Amino acid sequence: MKQPAGIPTFFKNLVEEPLNAMVEKAQDSGQRAIGYTCSYVPRPLLDVEGIFGVRLRAPGVSGTPMADTYLSNVICSLTRSIMELALEGAYSNLGGWVFASSCDHMRRLYDNLDYLEPLDFVHILDVPHKRGEAATAWMKEELEMLAEKLAEHFGVDTGRGALAISIKEHNRLLAILRGLDRLRRRDAPPLSGTQYQMLMMAATSSPRNLVIEPLESLYKELENSSDGIDDYRARLLLAGSNCDDPGYIRVIESTGGLVVGDRTCTGSIPALKPVSEEGDPLEVLASHSLDNISCPRMMEEFGARAQEILEAVKLTRADGVVLETMKFCDTWGVEASPLVSVLREQGIPVLRLEREYAMSSEGQLQTRVQAFLESMGR
Ligand code: SF4
Repeated sequence: MKQPAGIPTFFKNLVEEPLNAMVEKAQDSGQRAIGYTCSYVPRPLLDVEGIFGVRLRAPGVSGTPMADTYLSNVICSLTRSIMELALEGAYSNLGGWVFASSCDHMRRLYDNLDYLEPLDFVHILDVPHKRGEAATAWMKEELEMLAEKLAEHFGVDTGRGALAISIKEHNRLLAILRGLDRLRRRDAPPLSGTQYQMLMMAATSSPRNLVIEPLESLYKELENSSDGIDDYRARLLLAGSNCDDPGYIRVIESTGGLVVGDRTCTGSIPALKPVSEEGDPLEVLASHSLDNISCPRMMEEFGARAQEILEAVKLTRADGVVLETMKFCDTWGVEASPLVSVLREQGIPVLRLEREYAMSSEGQLQTRVQAFLESMGR
């Protein structure tokens, strides 16, 4: 399957390093980078004047020997990979790190890094596991505490006005990413799933104010492009846990399966939902975060999650779903089997894949996807 040529390598370079050249450029100009590891940390709060959010990844990690001594090897390899790079000093240039209590594995990562003190500013948000008025009030308090600590430690303005500006700019970035995502709904999309994931990771791991213009001009270019992918065998929706490695999607697509949507915690659904610009920004960010029920950490939302995937299948006209989950991930471990049953009951072919963070066996993955496409008669 051909990969359209329209995506500048500039974006590829942005996703190859744990902290990319744009982050360094922004820090050289006096801004401070705040690393975060979960979609329950509201980025607009980290993107006020003077600081900027960087979603942390562990590109290029090969093994986790050091991290295993702190976390053990039955903890998900996403957290171990980030820990390994942290111990290697890959994130030492960060100004701070904000965690969310997304799961026990992430919590253990925070406990260990907070104990080892790699950075001056380390904070964790205690995110409720359910939606509702009380949960939103709790989350708002958590965000108020974080806003105060950021203002005190970095001398930045995290007041209503500053947050309202940040939310507006955040929505501008989301609108560009939604536009790029919509192009994948064409019969012959001008970009592949691999390329789209690269743009998503570039957008979340670079300073917003530096990455927004190149993304906007690329979108305008692709929107008018007649070049598209038309030699694929099937349209696939990728669903599941963290999948921040475009290389993983590249292997899936090397079989002829085109990834036309990604309902993962690092994908387009539901991450690109705009944030309301009405009302108290912290209240809005609190309810917006909790409305993200895509992660199985959110209790009593299985039905809503299954519905969200069914709607994504319809929206993207996917022929099948690839459900990828991180090995040892408890939250997805519980959720995956019943989800597969629901989708199959709806007549949707599903391939369930369990993976490690670092790509280990491309051949095996290719064989699995190949067999899946054949089982769909493609
Ligand atoms: S993949 Fe699962 S275990 Fe790992 S950090 Fe995410 S939710 Fe937690």
